[in-house]
Amino acid sequence: MKLCRFDEDRLGVVIGDTIHDITNIQTDIRAAARYDMRGDAVIAALPEWRERMEAAAASGPIKKVSEVKLLPPVARPSKTMAAPVNYEAHVAEMKAQPHVTGEDKGPSRPPGIQNQGIFLKSNSCVVGASEGVAIRFPDRRNDHEVEFVIVIGKQGSRIKRDDALDYIAGYTLGLDMTVRGVEDRSFRKSCDGYAPLGPFFVTADEIPDPNNVDFQVHLNGKLQQDAHTKDLIFDIQRLIEFASEFYTIYPGDVLFTGSPPGVSEVHPGDVMRCNCDLIGEMEVTVRAAE
Ligand code: MN
Repeated sequence: MKLCRFDEDRLGVVIGDTIHDITNIQTDIRAAARYDMRGDAVIAALPEWRERMEAAAASGPIKKVSEVKLLPPVARPSKTMAAPVNYEAHVAEMKAQPHVTGEDKGPSRPPGIQNQGIFLKSNSCVVGASEGVAIRFPDRRNDHEVEFVIVIGKQGSRIKRDDALDYIAGYTLGLDMTVRGVEDRSFRKSCDGYAPLGPFFVTADEIPDPNNVDFQVHLNGKLQQDAHTKDLIFDIQRLIEFASEFYTIYPGDVLFTGSPPGVSEVHPGDVMRCNCDLIGEMEVTVRAAE
C-alpha cells in the first residue's frame, strides 16, 4: 500500500496516478492516540488499521496526484536520523574536495559511518515534495543528496540485525539538503525545507529486499545521482541495529540511509526530480529564501 499526505493535512491511499482520500480514518486514528505518545499516530496504527484503510480507499473521494499539494508522508516523526557518508564512492568524492567540506581548514573526525555515527536533522526541516527548498545562504554551496529513507514502524531499542526488518513500517525517498562547510552536520543540514520527503510512503511489504533498490535524482533533467542500496556500507538492517544502540526508535521516525555519489550544487530556479520505481517520482523546486 502507498500512502500520502496532501493538501490541508489530508491522508490518501495512492493507486496508480490517483489518490483515494481516507482522511476520515486519519481523524479516527488521531482521536484514539494519546497526546503524549512518541512518534506518529498513523504510522503506529498501520498494523491494526490497514484493512480499514484499504476498505475506505475503495469508496473514498478521488483526486489525481497531479492536482494535489504533496506534504511529507509522515506528519510527526519523533526524530529525523541520517547516516553520514554510507557509500564508498561518496566517501571518495568528498575526500577529493576538502575545500568544499571545510576539511582544508583543519582535521575532522576520521571518515566513515562507523566512526561518525548517525546524526540528526531537525524535524522542522521536513517538507513535502510540493513545498520545495528555499536557499537561505545563496553565497554558500548548497547540495542535493538523494537518499533511500526508512520509516520506523514500532518502538525498539538495541535491536538485533536479524529482527531489524520487523521494525520498519515502510520507505520513502528523501533529499538530505546540505549547506557545505565546517559547522556540525545537524546545523548545516537543518535549514527549513532541507529534508523533502516523498512523494509517498510505501509499506514494507512492497519492498521485501530494501538492500536491492535503485533510485535516482535528475537536476534540471541531467542524471546526477544514480544509486543502488546494494552499495550501502551499513546496509538497512545494520543501520537499524546501529541507530537503536543509541536511540530508542519510535513509529514514524525517519532514517535517511546516506548519500550515494554524484552530489552537486543547487541554485534558485533548479528542479530536482527524484525517482524510484518502487516508491514513485517527485519534483522538488529550489527557490531563494525570503
Ligand atoms: Mn546525507
